[in-house]
Amino acid sequence: MTAIASPVIHNLVGGKWVTSTSLAGIELLNPATGEPLGYSPAGSAAEVDAAVLAAHTAFASWRSVPAVDRVQYLFKLKALLEQHLDELASLITIENGKTLAESKAELRRGIENVEVACGIPVLMQGYSLEDVAPGIDEIMVRQPLGVCAVITPFNFPLMIPLWFLPYAIATGNTVVLKPSDRVPFSAARRLELIQETGLPDGVVNLVNGGKAAVDALLDHPLVRAVSFVGSTPVARHVYARGSASGKRVQCQGGAKNHVVVLPDADQETTTKIIADSAFGCAGQRCLAVSVTVTVGEAKDWFRDSIAAAASSLKVGNGLDPASQMGPVITQASRERVVGLIGQGAEQGAQTIVDGRGTRVNGGAGSFVGATVLDGLPATSPLMETEIFGPVLSVVHADTVEEAVAMIERSAYGNASSIFTSSGAAARKFRTSVSTGNVGINIGVPAPMAYFPFSGWKGSFFGVMHAQGRDAIEFFTDKKVIVERWPKEWSRKF
Ligand code: NAD
Repeated sequence: MTAIASPVIHNLVGGKWVTSTSLAGIELLNPATGEPLGYSPAGSAAEVDAAVLAAHTAFASWRSVPAVDRVQYLFKLKALLEQHLDELASLITIENGKTLAESKAELRRGIENVEVACGIPVLMQGYSLEDVAPGIDEIMVRQPLGVCAVITPFNFPLMIPLWFLPYAIATGNTVVLKPSDRVPFSAARRLELIQETGLPDGVVNLVNGGKAAVDALLDHPLVRAVSFVGSTPVARHVYARGSASGKRVQCQGGAKNHVVVLPDADQETTTKIIADSAFGCAGQRCLAVSVTVTVGEAKDWFRDSIAAAASSLKVGNGLDPASQMGPVITQASRERVVGLIGQGAEQGAQTIVDGRGTRVNGGAGSFVGATVLDGLPATSPLMETEIFGPVLSVVHADTVEEAVAMIERSAYGNASSIFTSSGAAARKFRTSVSTGNVGINIGVPAPMAYFPFSGWKGSFFGVMHAQGRDAIEFFTDKKVIVERWPKEWSRKF
């Protein structure tokens, strides 16, 4: 049974739902059942142009709506998202595959961003100083940019657009959202709820599609800023092409995250937390741990305990409350992950838990069971490959310094964690490691909405991160006014 009202995917342009006239892009299947859900359109420059023009037209009046009135729509949106939490969670599970509990958790994290953006009347304030010279005052104000493009990946269909969208509109911008072509249904439903808030037409627009739609947004002269989340190769492309046409661009890319386990870590909780990080959302999280580095005697217990945790996970349709892990997004993704597990074995790892043979309901869904690769050599190419599936590599280091050196060699820098009961070891780790997010006895160090979210190195291209104060900075231009209102001129000419 599907909660999808119609298999036809529409764009939202200036408050009107329009059927895409571009070519069919990809066929969408429920990842758990293989049931057809519809076709994603390829998108076209003409459709993007219509959406950008609608956003540009709406900007003229939206920018002058007082901030305190703009956020009233966000208060309503928060209430609507909460009211429709169960419905939206099922929709995410049907099109993305993650479990219902994971879908609800993602929505909660998204709603947090709406809540933070409700504080814009305070957060957006500038500053001023009287008498910078006799009788002269100086004032800094923040103003919106104009049309902002938001381009998002498949793995958090509702949360990731909300890293940007509430801040962009609360600061007075208008938006064209281009969601992942793998998960267009929840994006459309969210836009319906946004319409229900009474937000003026054209403030938020939706275009569907893949590369054609993205490139048209990057080239459009009326698009002032681009927020992107996705894989590193596409992030590099978006950053280069968007910047080349003078836009403000922020791009979150892929990841290969390490967790270091010291011998003094609590064995039971460490295992549970790392298993949850590696296999939660079927490993399709940019903060998921991909490599666990055991230090010293941690090797003696971690290998067996993580193997037991991985083997005990119940894999199944995310709509079934008993399922602890759903499928990966597509059959192509399943084949890719299965192929990479095979490469791990070829490159010298021992597959101590092998999820390649996992079948659910006759094999129609794209399931891969939790997998643990032990002893992958440091030089193997898989150590640098983002697998984006439920696969954990366990490797060993004799010292913390050796473990940190492995992290430093990575081209990515999204997240890293350490498990220990030593404050001194944890402090040394957090001060030295080159990743944008660091966990201390935390498996998924995801910043709350009022902290910035971003990786380092090949995991991020840009300056201002997502969420919180960085979002205000990204979505506004600073203007400085120097003014003199003399009764008597203090300066003679
Ligand atoms: P993706 O790069 O394939 O797609 C992201 C977006 O770009 C989608 O909207 C897609 O339609 C578009 N796109 C795809 N190919 C394109 C191309 N050649 N040119 C222009 N646009 C293109 O990513 P995905 O598979 O949807 O998501 C998974 C990736 O996202 C992983 O690498 C994951 O690590 C990353 N991710 C990163 C973060 C983070 O915060 N750093 C968060 C979530 C996901």
